[in-house]
Amino acid sequence: MFKQGSMPAREWGGRLPVALVFPEGEPQALSTLGWQSVYKDLVYDDGFYVERFFWDKEGQRAGSPDSDKKLGVFPLICFSLNFEGDYLSLINILQAEKIPVRSIEKSDWPLIMAGGPLAFLNPFPVVPSLDFLFVGESEGRFKQVAHRIRELWLSGEACGRVIEKISGFPGIFIPGQKHKVKKQISISGNRCLPQPGYSSFISDKSVFRGSFLVEVNRGCSYGCRFCAAGFIYRPPRQADLGALKKIVQAAGPGKVGLVGTALTDWKDLETFLAWLHDQKIKFSLSSMRADSLERKFLEFLRRCGIRTITLAVEGISQTLRTAANKHFKEEKFFAAVEHISGLRFNTLKLYFILGLPGESLNDFGELSTFLKRLDEARKAGRGGKSKGVDLVSISASMFVPKPWTPLQWAPMDSEEKFLEKTRIFKKMCSRFKGLRFRAEKPFAARIQGLLSRGDEKVHDLLVLASEHGSSWKKALKDWPGQISDYIDKEFTTDTDFVWDAIDIGVDKNYLIAEWKRYRKALLTRPCPALPCDRCKRCGMDDFLAADDNTSL
Ligand code: SF4
Repeated sequence: MFKQGSMPAREWGGRLPVALVFPEGEPQALSTLGWQSVYKDLVYDDGFYVERFFWDKEGQRAGSPDSDKKLGVFPLICFSLNFEGDYLSLINILQAEKIPVRSIEKSDWPLIMAGGPLAFLNPFPVVPSLDFLFVGESEGRFKQVAHRIRELWLSGEACGRVIEKISGFPGIFIPGQKHKVKKQISISGNRCLPQPGYSSFISDKSVFRGSFLVEVNRGCSYGCRFCAAGFIYRPPRQADLGALKKIVQAAGPGKVGLVGTALTDWKDLETFLAWLHDQKIKFSLSSMRADSLERKFLEFLRRCGIRTITLAVEGISQTLRTAANKHFKEEKFFAAVEHISGLRFNTLKLYFILGLPGESLNDFGELSTFLKRLDEARKAGRGGKSKGVDLVSISASMFVPKPWTPLQWAPMDSEEKFLEKTRIFKKMCSRFKGLRFRAEKPFAARIQGLLSRGDEKVHDLLVLASEHGSSWKKALKDWPGQISDYIDKEFTTDTDFVWDAIDIGVDKNYLIAEWKRYRKALLTRPCPALPCDRCKRCGMDDFLAADDNTSL
C-alpha cells in the first residue's frame, strides 16, 4: 500500500511497460478497487514497469501521476471499464493520444485491452477499439496473460501474432471470436472471497477522502431483478474476518471505508466494526438494507460518529418492490426510520427508481401514503415533535435495463414521461418539511441505457460524440442509428443479445423465469446463507463445477 506520490521507482529495462488507464478522474480512480488489485499484481512483479493514467477532463488528456510519459509509448495499455460513461472517455483518450480509435487501423503496438466489470456486462460498444478483453475477476489471472505478452514483446513479436498467441488463455476475448468466453471467477475452496480488494493508495484526492477501502463482500444473495451486480457477481461471496483485520493492520489507516454489494449481509459486519472502533479507526458504510437496522446497531453507529444513513427503497410502491424481488418490509423500514430520527442522525438518504416496468398511477397513490408514513415515523422518533431527522434526502433515478438481469428485455421511459413522474414525486415531497427531492437527468440515463444495451454499431456514435467535444446531442444527429431501437421497445425473450457471447454462469432460462415472475409480482427466495448451496436455480452450480479455475 502506497501513500500517494510514493510509488516505488522502477526501470524499463527487461520489463514490459504497462499503462493502467482509469478513464475517469483521479478521485474516482482512487475510490475504485478493481484496477488497484491489478496494479498490485503487476507493480510488485519484476517483469513489469507499471504507470497509472487517469482522464484529465480539464486538459482533455490521459495524465499520469507517476511521470510525464505519454500513454502511446507503453506497448500494453489496459483500460479499466467500470461505468458505461467510461466508453466515451476511452475514445477521448485514444483520440487525445493519437492512437487509432479502431483497432483495425492500427498497424502494430501498442496492444489495447480492457477489463473491469463492464467487460463482463456488455463491452461491445467499445470492442472495435480493442485488441482483446480480459473477462472476469482478475486476482492474479490477468498477470499470467501479461507475462506471456511480455515474453512475446521482448522476443520482438508483432502485435497481431501476440493476439493470436494469447487467444486461448482463460477469460481472453478477441474481437470477432465465434466461441463464448467464460467469465473468470475468484472463489476459494471454502467458497469465500479469497483475495478481497483493498486500496493501494490513501489519498485526500479520493472521493472517500483519506479512507482506506476494503471489500467485505462481492455479489448479493437477494437477486433484485433490476440490479446487475446481483447477477454478474454470482455466487455471492464474503471476505474472511481475520484476513480483513490483517489487511487493515498492515495499512494502519485512520479511516476505513467498507465496500460491498450487500454490506449488511456480511455476518461479521458488527464484529468488524466493533474491532475498528476499539482500534480507534473511523469507518464509513455505503447503502444498507433497512431490515437489518436494529436499534442496538444504530446506537453503535451513532456512538462511532456516523451521521448519515443511506437506504435503498427502489420501487415507488410495495407492488413494484415485490415485482423487483426487493424483499422490502415496510414495517421494518418505518421502524428503522423512527430509530434513525430518535438517535439524531443528521441525514437519511433514500434512493428510488422511477420507471420500473408496469409502473402506473396506482403506484403513485401508494407513494403518497408511503411519504406520509415516512414523515410520521421521523416525527415519532422524536416523541411526536414536529422536527424529526434533520434532513431526508430523496434521490430518484431512472430505470435502466441492464444486461444479465431479468429486466434486460424491458423498455425505458421516454424523457417526457420521466420528467412528468418527477414533477409528481417532487410535488408530493413538498408537502413535508425537511424532505428534499432531486432526480437525475433523463437524457443522461437514456444514453446510459443505449450504451448498456449497445452493440458494435454504437462505436460509431462514441467516435462522433468524441469528435463533437463529448456532445451526445450533436453526435446523435449525425449517427445513422436510432436510440429508440435500443431502449424504447420491449424485446422478446428469444432475442439474441450481443452480450450472449459472454458466459457469466447464470442460465438465460433462469433470467426468463425471473422476468415472468416480475410480471406476476412474485418473490424469489434469496440464495441461502452463504456459501452458494448449488440449489440448481441459477446455473452457477454447473458453471463452478465445470470451471478449471475455481473450486467449490
Ligand atoms: S445456485 Fe442457488 S445458491 Fe448458488 S448462486 Fe445460484 S441461486 Fe444462489
